[in-house]
Parts: sequence; structure tokens; C-alpha cells
Amino acid sequence: MSSRDEERLKGIYLDHDSLQVDSLGKIIVGIIEPTVTLFYHELLQDQDARYFLDSDIVRERLHASLVAWLKLIFSPKSEKSFKKLVAFQKSIGNVHARINIPMHLVVEGMRIIRREIVSFLATSSIPREELVKLVILVGEILDHNLSLINESYVRNLASYERNTHALRLQLSPSAQALESERLRSSLRAWSTQLWKTLAHGDGENDLPSLGRSEFGLWIFHKIPLTLPNLTQIEDIHHHIQAIDCLLGRDINTFSQLQQLDPEKIRIIEEEIRSIDLKLDMMIEESLEQESGRDPLTKVYNRRFLDSVVKHELEVSMRHEIRFGFLLCDIDHFKKVNDTHGHDAGDAILQQFARRMLDCARVNDYVFRFGGEEFLFLYGDMTFKRLQYLAEKMRLAIVEKPFVLPSGDEIVVTASFGGAIHDGHPNFQKSLKQADEALYEAKQSGRNCWVIRT
Ligand code: GH3
Ligand code: MG
Ligand code: MG
Repeated sequence: MSSRDEERLKGIYLDHDSLQVDSLGKIIVGIIEPTVTLFYHELLQDQDARYFLDSDIVRERLHASLVAWLKLIFSPKSEKSFKKLVAFQKSIGNVHARINIPMHLVVEGMRIIRREIVSFLATSSIPREELVKLVILVGEILDHNLSLINESYVRNLASYERNTHALRLQLSPSAQALESERLRSSLRAWSTQLWKTLAHGDGENDLPSLGRSEFGLWIFHKIPLTLPNLTQIEDIHHHIQAIDCLLGRDINTFSQLQQLDPEKIRIIEEEIRSIDLKLDMMIEESLEQESGRDPLTKVYNRRFLDSVVKHELEVSMRHEIRFGFLLCDIDHFKKVNDTHGHDAGDAILQQFARRMLDCARVNDYVFRFGGEEFLFLYGDMTFKRLQYLAEKMRLAIVEKPFVLPSGDEIVVTASFGGAIHDGHPNFQKSLKQADEALYEAKQSGRNCWVIRT
């Protein structure tokens, strides 16, 4: 059964308004590109949107699709192409649900597009009566198409949530650890077969490449769905490719393997050891997850932020108290990595988090918010006290040097941005304020704090 939006759109595209759609499309075709450019520029000011849009590839791809989408909705349709349009909007809703794009971002984006098109029309020389009709038409076309997307978004989101939940239940962290353990034995089985073939020639003749072995198939096809740590998996992909490259695509019989030069065999051995190590880390991380902690720094994982804040919001409303956010970002951390290596960077992050945790009270929460960014959530907080805590933490970082794995010591500084929650149910606003305050602290020379009321 078609929805009301679908019925209305049908009227617009196929009945009495179709000529108007045609002329509207022709009038605005020239401003579609610049409107889309502006759309991204404005949306990127929003922290939520940045999370989804801030990459060159995404921007390029989305730019082209959004331009095409606007041209599509502002052009007349036949019966057949109208059906295709409806199906297309539904598939967009499905994709948005799959990658979990917050619907408010889509709505905000539409607002920008509508504003730009309408202001353009308003400055044109179109007679007033005609102009009013076109402005209404723009609104209707955008609204009804968006409603179709929204409808399918909500339906699909519910089903994805159910599936993810089911998948998670099926694979608790300890089950994930077990899965990694199984992977390790299938890697061992493959390498044993390889060494046997090399040493005595009594292995099977058809040793598959590692990528096509049971282990490889598991890693490429199944693991990405069940184990969340994609960086380790990507590393493992690289090791598999390196091994298969050293073995050569066709070297799978005994005589060919016998010709492998010893240096290559040594590297293959090392690569296998690296994979083993990565699997170890995956097991450890899966178990760490059970406690909700970030494996490197032991502070809370960001994904728990929403639930914790929801609880704080309830407490703050019930007792009429405010909570505060304090964001903290290590200064010039990239330089630490570049100068002393990534492992040294990791060691600094661990010591840094330790000091943060030492400054926290039992009812404070510390989250790993980004790579070298941490977020404090303080219940029952005032502006003055937040200032005091920011200074206390700044000193805890800067006053004592950090120790590198080499034993050398370096001084590290951090910048802080804080905000007291204003009581609004949407806590993202306060978080955004803290983020802006942090930006200001960075601009004012770093190793300092800025707190907003
Ligand atoms: P700023 O003072 O403006 O914050 O400069 P910055 O160099 O700290 O900021 P930028 O965002 O340019 O770089 C952050 C660096 O943090 C880049 C990234 O490699 C590093 N990083 C993020 N997460 C980790 C991690 O888990 N381990 C290590 N070693 N480095 C990390
Ligand atoms: Mg930084
Ligand atoms: Mg940062």
C-alpha cells in the first residue's frame, strides 16, 4: 500500500503539477552544485555531522550523489520513473539506517538546501504569483521525498538494532575471545602443513595460499561481522597478503616450495608470528570489552557515553543539580609519535590516562573520546569547581615528566575545554560547547583551559 507521501508525490510528478516541476527544475539547475558545496560546508560545523562526513572520499562521493539526487527530484517523471524514484528513496533510508546516520542531520541538511533554493528563487525576476507557487512546490517536493526516506529509515533502523543486538548476544566478548582462539589454531594448522612440506616433502601437494586457507577465509569473510576491532583485522590482512606474495601465487606444490630461498622462509616465519601476536591482542581486547574499558588506557569506552549521560540527566533533573563536561586533548601529540614512535605514543597515553584517573572522584566518569582526547563527566558540578579541576589536571600533566619506553623523559602538556550542562535534554549542545572551549584553549596557545557557563 502506498503512503500519503507517495500519493502526494504522484500528484506532483504525474498530474497537474508536472509542468511546474519541469520549469522549476530548469530554473534551479544552475545552483544545485553550489548549494551542495554549501551544504557540506555548513554541516561540517556540526560535530555529529563531522563524524560522518569528514573524509575526502565521503565528501566527494556524497557530493556527486547529492547533486544527482537533487536533479532527480526536481525533474518530471513518467509512471515508470516515478516508481523507480519511490524505490530509490526507500533504499536511501535503508542505507542511512545501516550506517546509522542520525535523522536530524538529514533534516538539517534539507533545511539548508531549501533555504538556498528559496532564496535563489526570491532574487529572480519571476512574477510574484508564480514565485509563491514555486516556493510551495520546492517545499512539497523536499518534504514528501524526505518523508519516504524517513519512513524506510525508521523501519530499517528497528530491524538493524534487533539484528545487532541479536548478534551481540550471540557473540559475547568471551565468545569472541573463543572465536579468536579457534582462528589461532586454524593458522597453526596451515603453518604446520607448510613447514612439513618444506622439511620433508610429506605435506599435501595442494597447500592453499594463506588467504584461501580456512584461516584466510575466516578472516576475510566472517570475522569482520563478529569481531569489532577492525584495525587489528586490517593488519592481519596485510600480513596474509605479504605471506602469499612471498610464497608466490602458484607455489603450492612440494617442488616449488622447496625452491623458496631461506631468507623468504625466515620472513614468512616472522609474518606468521606477527599474525599470532595480533590474534592475542584481539583476544585480550575482546575480554577487556566485557568491562566496557578501552584496552589501552583503561578508561571507559566512548560508546557508553550515551547511557551514562542519560542517567546523569535523570539525576540532574530529579535533584536540580548540574553536571559538567571537561574535554581534554594532549598538545602536539602527533609530534610525540613522529619523534619517538607510535609505541612511545601509546606509553604516554597510558600514563596520561592514569594521571587523569588519579584526579577523578569515584562518581566521575572518564571516557576515551578520541585518539588522544579524553572526556570527563562530573556529576553535581559548578562553574568555579570545574575551573578548579581543569587547573588541577593541567598541573598534574605538566608538572611531572612522562617516561618513554627508552627511559628518557619528556614534558607533555594538554589543553582543556569545559562546559556546565544547561539542563537541556539534548546534552550534545553542552558537549559542543566544551568542544568549542577546547578549540579556544588550543588557539590561545595550549597548556591551558577555557570553561563555558
Ligand atoms: P593539537 O595540539 O592541536 O591537539 O595537536 P595534535 O598533534 O595533538 O593533534 P592531531 O589531531 O594533529 O594529532 C593527534 C595524533 O594522535 C595523531 C594520531 O596519530 C595520534 N594518536 C591517536 N590515537 C593514538 C593512539 O592510540 N596511539 C598513539 N600512539 N597515537 C595516537
Ligand atoms: Mg592533540
Ligand atoms: Mg585531538
